[in-house]
Amino acid sequence: MVDAVEAADPNCVFCQIVARTAPAYIVYEDEEALAFLDIFPFTRGHLLVIPKHHVPRLTDLPESEHAAYLRALAKVCRRAERLSSDYNIALNQGAKAGQIVFHLHFHVIPRYGEGNPFHSRPRDRLPEAEARALVAALSAP
Ligand code: AMP
Ligand code: ZN
Repeated sequence: MVDAVEAADPNCVFCQIVARTAPAYIVYEDEEALAFLDIFPFTRGHLLVIPKHHVPRLTDLPESEHAAYLRALAKVCRRAERLSSDYNIALNQGAKAGQIVFHLHFHVIPRYGEGNPFHSRPRDRLPEAEARALVAALSAP
């Protein structure tokens, strides 16, 4: 396993979340991966799943780390199913594809039968009370 602290980029907000120098509503953690609530969610329970190792893209992640990352993604999806059986998994790669944080992350976006939530309208910041309720619902193994 790569040492996440050694592999960190000090200017990367997701590395700061891994290092606990930036706040986040963390719902899952293992040796190699972390999942937390997106602070500007598309839908209720929108999650981000990251490898602790700072890499910008999936194609930068060493193959030896693929299995652990996919395993973490599946575990987080199983937790997202507590909110809804239906969800999107998204991966934006590159600025023209909408990537704004250049630390690899899958989005897990629960769907509740609402209209298309992916419009480019501004998203509301996650309310504190809702975040706490979601962390309680999603943190248990
Ligand atoms: P992307 O456009 O795929 O790079 O997605 C980045 C996501 O990270 C966006 O949905 C942001 O709302 C989210 N985000 C950015 N900073 C934070 C943060 N500090 N905590 C939680 N989510 C964040
Ligand atoms: Zn990073």
